[in-house]
Amino acid sequence: MNDGPITYAELADYDLSVIGALKSHPKKIDRLAELGIETVLDLLTTYPRRHIDRSRQELIRDLLPGDQAMVLGKVARISGRRTKGRPPKTLVTAEIGDGSGYLRITFFNQGWREHQLPAGTEAVFFGKVDTFQGRKQMANPVVDFIGDKTGRIIPLYPQSEKPRITSDDVASWVQAAIAKTEKRGLAEPLPETYRRQYDFVDRTDALKGMHSPDSMGDVSAARKRLVFDELLRVQLALVLRKRALERTAKGIVHDTSGELVRRFYEALPFPLTSAQQRVIADITKDLGSTYPMHRLLQGDVGSGKTVVAVSALLAAIQGGHQGALMAPTEVLAEQHFLGIRDLLTDLRVTGDEQEGSLFEGLAADRPVRVELLTNRTTAANRRKLAEALTDGAVDLLIGTHALIEDKVAFRSLGVVVIDEQHRFGVEQRDALRQKGAEGATPDVLVMTATPIPRTAAMTVYGDLDVSVLDELPPGRTPIVTTWVRAASAAEEAQQPVWAHVKEQVGQGRQAYVVCPLVEESEKLEASSAEETFERLGAVELADLRLGLLHGRMASVDKEAAMREFREGRTDVLVATTVIEVGVDVPNATVMVILDADRFGIAQLHQLRGRVGRGADASTCWLIGAGITPDGEARLEAMVETTDGFVLAEVDLELRGEGTLMGERQKGRNDLKLASLRRDKEWVVRAREVAFELVDADPDLSDHQALQAEIGLFLGDEEADFLLKS
Ligand code: ADP
Ligand code: MG
Repeated sequence: MNDGPITYAELADYDLSVIGALKSHPKKIDRLAELGIETVLDLLTTYPRRHIDRSRQELIRDLLPGDQAMVLGKVARISGRRTKGRPPKTLVTAEIGDGSGYLRITFFNQGWREHQLPAGTEAVFFGKVDTFQGRKQMANPVVDFIGDKTGRIIPLYPQSEKPRITSDDVASWVQAAIAKTEKRGLAEPLPETYRRQYDFVDRTDALKGMHSPDSMGDVSAARKRLVFDELLRVQLALVLRKRALERTAKGIVHDTSGELVRRFYEALPFPLTSAQQRVIADITKDLGSTYPMHRLLQGDVGSGKTVVAVSALLAAIQGGHQGALMAPTEVLAEQHFLGIRDLLTDLRVTGDEQEGSLFEGLAADRPVRVELLTNRTTAANRRKLAEALTDGAVDLLIGTHALIEDKVAFRSLGVVVIDEQHRFGVEQRDALRQKGAEGATPDVLVMTATPIPRTAAMTVYGDLDVSVLDELPPGRTPIVTTWVRAASAAEEAQQPVWAHVKEQVGQGRQAYVVCPLVEESEKLEASSAEETFERLGAVELADLRLGLLHGRMASVDKEAAMREFREGRTDVLVATTVIEVGVDVPNATVMVILDADRFGIAQLHQLRGRVGRGADASTCWLIGAGITPDGEARLEAMVETTDGFVLAEVDLELRGEGTLMGERQKGRNDLKLASLRRDKEWVVRAREVAFELVDADPDLSDHQALQAEIGLFLGDEEADFLLKS
């Protein structure tokens, strides 16, 4: 067979039975498969979760309070008990000795430690040294078992309980795999220029440096190289997709200098912010080019995305094409419909009826016609609408995902706007794009009010161009946020909250009360909202007019509740997270969120964004006990800032990128070592390199090894795409 250096593709062809020590252990092989480790490649890219540097080990005798230290010791004694406090805690205390002295170790709420560390066990303890009753101790240290390893740097691998697979097992299998590659060495997919430019070690050294390093320096050099490889694969896939779309899809060159858009700006009651102007300029450039636009608009709540969207839609309409706007919920679609129809009153299409013009057969001087399509649109209305869409009488269609159904067909769809992107997947985005006329791909603008940090956006939305609305319209008074540290039932602490609501309503303002989030159960959430509605109506807010809105209500009732609130016929809207996105009632100045510590930062930020939309000062009350450290950190961040991008950074810190990637990217979880937080600058560099490579070699035919690796790591979805292009 082959005797050149071994490629990753080849390693992926060997299953684990080639590892001698595993051959006779089918149960372990099965267990590894469950963990996603099926091939020699999987095994070699199962990296240690940490490395222990034995040279940094300290003697108990030398420890000083305040030190962050690592000691290797033997458990002399261990015992556990329950404390008396409320709620009770388990407290496990142990004495460990290393010949130089004894150290007290305590674990809170980790009762299982008693069984994990019976007397006589040898282990490494990492943690901060402090003093307790005059003695040195370590509280809640990290514990690792290193067996009788003698090397200076010891890799620690993920372990498994049943069947038992220890870090040492994994280490020995990995070593066996590495031994098998030794003779031929590993193939190098990355062009030498980049290896030199960034001073990377080669693949062979990188894997060795990760799995059997001689120094911590080896580990960091290896990590740097492997992180780059991971990020480059993701970026190559995204950039290939982006460039292929640009190459293969034929865009519409829109008329960007027409009257309609200009008259729209003139009719606005306010000047555009400079951020809006900048973003509109980005979009205008896209619309006028032969490439179809594929752009993400990030803008914090209230930054004025609607105006930007409408101006793009009108650019399509003034050239005789149609626009479509898709929102994630009925409430939002209806609200956009009402709001945009208002913005467009008095605007008229003035096209050219001549033969061959896109306006041919249409009244060329008529009001812009906007229609709404949701699941509630009756069959009869749908039929009428279908006709008006295919003959071009409807200029702008607003709706929910009902828009992407097969039956919906346009005469000439020119611009598509998708609001609140995180609720829609890539497939839905593509489905709408497919609705363009023969051979013409509509321009697509995706809008999100959930800002994500730049490097994360490059990874999650790396196939889109990105524009940011980073400025709020002037005249907004910042929202004052207060955290009331109370469990929801602790009514006393809540008194100031309800007094404030009453006072604001007394001044003609309105308020929202958001009920506790019940994960996974809309039904429980609805009943909790109903309870809150009853209780507030009977007790705390007895004199006010309350409305109720939750996801289990019939659509007519939902709409009625929204309408009553919008028109000021109710004072307080008691709601679930149904109101999370987009709801726009400028007269509302108070937002109360119950059990706020249960919500994620992005959600809290969205909810808070429902107030502060007018010129009046608004208030947000977060009620929650802050039971978990993360919950506490989230609420503190909310009090600290109203800047969505700052909050997004905090969120990324707290949750890690796993969740972020997980939400949208099934196939793109190749990031085993790379972190979108720690490795920011490498994300940027990998993206640059990906552009350089793809722009010089659009199908990577001169970089077969890289191309093969993208398919290997990124799954079928991405690989399919590469084959198609
Ligand atoms: P988003 O969708 O980004 O949350 P909207 O488009 O709903 O924000 O705009 C929020 C509010 O700000 C709306 O009431 C809108 O009329 C108003 N608005 C938008 N642009 C401006 C501007 N340039 N100056 C003043 N007010 C604006
Ligand atoms: Mg909006």
